[in-house]
Amino acid sequence: MRKTAYFIEGDGIGPEVWQATRPVLDKALDKAYSGQHSLEWVELLAGEKAYKETGEYLPARTLDTLREAELAIKGPLATPVGGGFRSLNVTLRQVLDLYACIRPVRYFQGIMSPLKRPELVDMVVFRENTEDVYAGIEWAAGSPEAEKVASFLRDEMKADIAPGSGIGIKPISEKGSKRLVRKAIDYALYKKRPSVTLVHKGNIMKYTEGAFRAWGYELAREEYADRTITEDEAGQGKTGLVIKDRIADAMFQQVLLKPDLYSVIATTNLNGDYLSDALAAQVGGLGLAPGVNMSDRLAFFEATHGTVPSYAGKDVVNPGSLILSGAMLLEHAGWEKASDLIHASIEKVVSSKRVTQDLARQIPDAVTVGCKEFGELIGENL
Ligand code: NAD
Repeated sequence: MRKTAYFIEGDGIGPEVWQATRPVLDKALDKAYSGQHSLEWVELLAGEKAYKETGEYLPARTLDTLREAELAIKGPLATPVGGGFRSLNVTLRQVLDLYACIRPVRYFQGIMSPLKRPELVDMVVFRENTEDVYAGIEWAAGSPEAEKVASFLRDEMKADIAPGSGIGIKPISEKGSKRLVRKAIDYALYKKRPSVTLVHKGNIMKYTEGAFRAWGYELAREEYADRTITEDEAGQGKTGLVIKDRIADAMFQQVLLKPDLYSVIATTNLNGDYLSDALAAQVGGLGLAPGVNMSDRLAFFEATHGTVPSYAGKDVVNPGSLILSGAMLLEHAGWEKASDLIHASIEKVVSSKRVTQDLARQIPDAVTVGCKEFGELIGENL
């Protein structure tokens, strides 16, 4: 089968990490299925390359194509200064309704980690991507808008707002919470994972974070009653996918002390942002952290790091994040064998200690190789 996958090279280090990535994905697919399956890569323009060619950072053609697409992958995009955008990434997420940000976190043998047993970390974080304090509904201290909202809150809602406060709004909806938890449960059932943990700060923010927790459990009861169980039921010996919850601060302790008790995590936007970066650091950093943003139609895979402008064009950065995001794309397309080959190859290359400089710093006696060579080594070891 041949499927179409769209790609955006990205800015800064984007082009070099993409050039290291694409041949690995094609070769893994070819090797796993002897040419039976392939990807047709179609480039879409965004960021500085788009601006140079079209005068726009995010051309309408790119957005129109992505609206109809199912598979896409992108390198990092810089936030244009004065381009009229809060951020290209945020715009893409909002316009395409990419409501679930999914970040798997696993350990690669040989990398230094602050944990005693980093190999116990094997989690997939589902972070809600459109709501919460990240929705961008905020006003600067002293602005007429902030004063207007503060007056309303003081006068009509009897809320105690200190003069000169900046104000941000935290919307969390039933629809937004349930569709995110549904994605997490579907994934856990499909991958035969043992549990989904709802992470929230509902003890303090009852009507936002607390509601997220309540809606998560409600969804599990309403739509997955025959396949999910509570932690109490698991304790009584019943089998099924366990739906449990943890308060966010306790969860940060738990993932350090008892990572093996957690598998799939479903959480709100801000918690998910903190937790996925903390987990990536636990297993050796962002260089090997892949991710995807999903709507109900499109799975848009991406490098989780930024454009690292100071290293752009120097052939020193780690293409691992984009390569592993590409492996996720292959798995999502139904080609798990190709994705497994990539994981096994990265394990081999990392244990051979020929790695990019960011990993070399974390591996005793490592030999530093460039971005291009690291990609080639992964390709050769498939
Ligand atoms: P960054 O990720 O670009 O860089 C932070 C540091 O992380 C770098 O100094 C570097 O040491 C390290 N690093 C990141 N990726 C690496 C890699 N592949 N290999 C080796 N080391 C790596 O973050 P930043 O400096 O905050 O952002 C720079 C630009 O990137 C900004 O314009 C920002 O808006 C954009 N950005 C884009 C995305 C995205 O497209 N998803 C994400 C984050 C930042």
